[in-house]
This record gives sequence, C-alpha cells and structure tokens, in this order.
Amino acid sequence: MKIKIGLGYDIHRLSRGRDLYLGGAKISHPTGLVGHSDGDCLVHALIDALLGAAGEPDIGRLFPDTDPKYKGIRSTALLTDAVSRLRSRGRRILNADVVVVAQGPKLASHIEEMKDRLCPILGLARDDLGIKAKTNEGLGLIGREKAIACWAIALVEEKAGKKA
Ligand code: MG
Repeated sequence: MKIKIGLGYDIHRLSRGRDLYLGGAKISHPTGLVGHSDGDCLVHALIDALLGAAGEPDIGRLFPDTDPKYKGIRSTALLTDAVSRLRSRGRRILNADVVVVAQGPKLASHIEEMKDRLCPILGLARDDLGIKAKTNEGLGLIGREKAIACWAIALVEEKAGKKA
C-alpha cells in the first residue's frame, strides 16, 4: 500500500449576475464566481488535489471548459466523477485540507454546510476534511473582492496491484 499527497489551486473572478457556489454551498452574495461550470474554485482545487495524488490528468483535461456538456454544471458533480474515477482504480481518500482566500463574503458560517455537501461525496468523516477561510487583508484583486482563490491538499491511499 502506498500513500500519496496531492496539491490543488484555483482562482475565479467574481462578477455580478452570477450565483455564488463555494464548497458546494450556494451562498447569498451580490456577486458569484465566473466559470464554464458553476465556478466553485474550492471544489476545483479539491478535485485537482485528489487527481494529483492519484496521478490522474488534471481537472482541465478531464472536464475541459470547451466541452458544452460541462457548461453550467455543478462542480460537486465533477467531484463525484473524479472520486468514482479514483475508487475504480482501487484508491481511497484519507483526508483533505482546504484554504479558501476570500475578502467577502465572510465564510465562517458556511463551512459546516460545505462539509455537509462535500464529506458524503468524498466518503470522509467531518474531521477528515479541513476547510479554513481567510481574507487577503484587503490586498490585490482578492482583497478588492474581484476574485476568490483556494488551495487544497489531499492524501490518497493506493492499494498495491490495483493501479490501472
Ligand atoms: Mg476552476
């Protein structure tokens, strides 16, 4: 058995006229994340951390933003696909940890709902998924509420002999 670590990062612009989805939760806010999908950069970073740990192609290659079938798709559906892909190759997620950097909205009160959405997909207990929100101290584009960025890290167990 081998245990592997993966790192993911994503950033999306905020714009008026978009719903804000973050960590699978719909958050009431005047702006939302722009993207071919629902723009949920937290879930995108998490997907890339998982795929990276598993040695799979990254999110852009598995779910291209040029493919009409992913237009407007909920990122939790992409996460579900990525997790099935790992499982079908005999891999198990051990834990994941996420840092989301947003000047606004304040996210602390939404973290439990994000865990409600994500833990069942990942097959993780709540204390095996870390989600931490930080501001950018008003600095740069994130500080001016023009974008939200996210870092994620994940551990994946690979059973010997199961690699595709
Ligand atoms: Mg993205």
